[in-house]
Parts: sequence; C-alpha cells; structure tokens
Amino acid sequence: MARVYIDPGHGGRDPGAVDGKSGTDVLYTEEEDLTLTVGMLLYDALKRCGVNVGISRMADVYPSLGERARKANEWLADCFVSVHFNAHASAAKGMEVLYYPSSVKGKKLAANIYDHLAPITPWGDRGLKARDNLYVLRATSMPAVIVEYDFITSEEAERLVVTEAYLAAAAEATARGVCDWLPVPYVAPDGNEADDPTGDPDDVHIIVARQSKYGLVEDFCNENSLTHWTLEDLNVPTSTFHITKGGE
Ligand SMILES: [Zn+2]
Repeated sequence: MARVYIDPGHGGRDPGAVDGKSGTDVLYTEEEDLTLTVGMLLYDALKRCGVNVGISRMADVYPSLGERARKANEWLADCFVSVHFNAHASAAKGMEVLYYPSSVKGKKLAANIYDHLAPITPWGDRGLKARDNLYVLRATSMPAVIVEYDFITSEEAERLVVTEAYLAAAAEATARGVCDWLPVPYVAPDGNEADDPTGDPDDVHIIVARQSKYGLVEDFCNENSLTHWTLEDLNVPTSTFHITKGGE
C-alpha cells in the first residue's frame, strides 16, 4: 500500500505567518490553523483513496523540523507533502509548490499537485519552484514537496483561504495530485471515482459561508468571482471540517 506522509506546517509555539487586523482588513489569521485544517482534510481524503497516511501533527503542537523529516524517513514514506500558507509584504497572491532541485520525482509530484490546484485559484499562475534551502525538502529521503496554498497577507486571498469550501477544495485537489503521482485511483468524498473537479463552467453556485474565528466571510463568498469550483461539487459533509482553534 502506498505510504504518504503529510506535514501540516508550524503549530504549538510556532504560529507560522500571522496576519493581524489593520485598516479594512478585519480578519486575524494564523498559518498554523489553516495548515492543520488542510492537513487533516488531506489525511481523510487520502485514507478514503486507500492510501496509508502518516502525519506529523494532528493537534496544535510543534514537532521540530528535524523530527518531521526523521519520522517520515523512518516510516519509509513514498512521498512527503508539507502544507503551508504564504506571507509577503507585497500584495502577492497565488499558490506555489516547492520541490528539491535535483529531485526528478519530487518535481513530478509538485507538477501533479499543481495541475489540480491551478483550477481552484482565481489569481493566476505562480507555479513550481525549485528550492535547495528548505529543511524538510533537504532532510527527507523520499520525494518531497511544500505546498504554499496562498498568501494570507493579501486581504483578498486571505478572505478566500479561510473559507471551509476553499480549504476542502485545496485538500481534495492535493489528494488528486498525490493519487496521480502514486498512482492510485482518486476516490471523491461521495465514494465515486470522480471526473473533472472543475465541472461545467456554467454550473456555478454561491459558496456558503459562516461565522468562524476568522470573522464573517460571506461577503467574499457572495461575489461571483469563484467560477472554478463549488461547495456542491465537492460533496464534502460539513461535519468533516476541522477549524482547529476557538470561535467555532
Ligand atoms: Zn509556513
């Protein structure tokens, strides 16, 4: 059975990127919460696909980077997927998948994942990046990627990525990419081997939103700018969502 090790970035004493409230930006977002949410959803998704899944944390705790890599190595994972959200002083937006430069299989894994992520980001292409200076890419002995799901420092992107629909779509898209790479058939949340996740472009619905620790996110969701996927398409029961800290 294929073995995939998931690493939800940061946690515990390390919140990762933090975006506080300022001006019109009323959301307070810590990267560690989003990474754990996506990591747990990805964990569930890959289990559903029959994959043997390991994970570096399932709670608000901080394993060191050395511990994360060592556990994946000892567990003999086939691949390592580290989950992160990005931050920058500019208004940068978009997803990136990072891989170790000399790893051909790692680059392929990054490409497989990005193929499925690209349809769910409204901001265009940042794509794949080779990085030789990132610990978990260097210290893992199997093909490894770091997925940066978007920039919480862009108010527009932040308001998107804190929605449950986005977090679920991000996890399912990542699962599809990992399944392509392994390869094993991807099994959708409804139990079927799903076809095109992007669906019919005419089949656009308003994303459902609700109050969360991040504040009310429905004003973003009432815009018709999200034309790539829908909550209905995901078929994810709301009970499977894990928003990890407070406010729920
Ligand atoms: Zn991070």
